Amino acid sequence: MTRRFLLSMLPAAAAAQQRRPALDLPQFEPKSALHVAETVVKRAKFPVLDIHTHLGWGDPKGVKANLILPPAELLKVMDAKNIRTMVNLTGGYGKSVEEGVQQLVKAHPGRFIVFTQPWFPRVAEPGYAKFQGDEIVRAHQAGARGLKVLKSLGLVVREKFDSGPLIKVDDKRFDPMWEACAAHDMPVAIHTSDPEAFFTPIDRFNERFEELNAHPDWSFHGIDYPSDRELQEARFRVLARHPKTQFVVLHVANSENLAYVAGNLQKYPNMWVEFGARIGELGRQPRTTRKFFDRFQDRIIFGTDAVPKGDEYPQQVFGEKLYEIYFRFLETEDEYFDYAPARVPPQGRWRIYGIGLPDAILKKVYWNNAARLLKLAAI
Ligand SMILES: [Zn+2]
Repeated sequence: MTRRFLLSMLPAAAAAQQRRPALDLPQFEPKSALHVAETVVKRAKFPVLDIHTHLGWGDPKGVKANLILPPAELLKVMDAKNIRTMVNLTGGYGKSVEEGVQQLVKAHPGRFIVFTQPWFPRVAEPGYAKFQGDEIVRAHQAGARGLKVLKSLGLVVREKFDSGPLIKVDDKRFDPMWEACAAHDMPVAIHTSDPEAFFTPIDRFNERFEELNAHPDWSFHGIDYPSDRELQEARFRVLARHPKTQFVVLHVANSENLAYVAGNLQKYPNMWVEFGARIGELGRQPRTTRKFFDRFQDRIIFGTDAVPKGDEYPQQVFGEKLYEIYFRFLETEDEYFDYAPARVPPQGRWRIYGIGLPDAILKKVYWNNAARLLKLAAI
């Protein structure tokens, strides 16, 4: 090219520079230009048990069930999507369990199951260990079918409940609780730790920067928080110490590291996994995930972590759209789609790929694995 020609290009280049718009990251909503298949899966191919929902948040005083939506509203969505049964994990304790069992289980046989929770506000009281073990038995008599342990164990609950050092996940004072669960055939649904990115600084290298920027209180980096791996290992020590207790490790334990999870599934026959709010992680490593589902097809249980309210966590808002995304991920080989019904992918700016499970595995993941654990009839 001649020098004169290059000089003639300069004004155009300058004009193009001026046209370059400034754009803040939150305003960036790229629409994929890929022309790929979109399969809409309106109903699950087989009946589903969703083992991870929060239909209420119990009551710190242990009196009310505090259901967020009337069961009739839930049943509409369940019937449309082929969800036969939902487990309300956060059924609370004390009288909350009785009320929840009344409003959900007894009023709608076969459609709901209620789990109980530990009385963490009483953890500092003398005699807590025995009290908590006894409370599991009482909750069982009231109709609770399992125990749910929130991530607050390890990250929030302290020696004096809200102050003092954090209580470790494998603290011995919970031993009677784990043992009572084994004695009464109550599986433990346990959430420990959180995404790995919640334990690293909120900076430009953090893959969940926008999510943490919107919810800085979700970060467990610094202060006196243990590392993700310390929390994971403490939870696995509990599994090792209580081999008769069945543990459903929620959110795939450590969904960024399926090799680590696989190693532990192999080590602990009393370990199961659930994948609520983690299809964003599983779906961006579809080949590894597909192999993981093949290998552990008898110990993976369907769950969504659905909450029937709000729009703060689009990856968890109970509704038809949420279930359709899960079904699409499990049943199809569609490529590059959103893992949550949201304007921008809420957990990180990536999209997912379906893993196209065969019918035999789908039946296990949707229903039969949970049925075996909860003593329900197989399909
Ligand atoms: Zn949850």
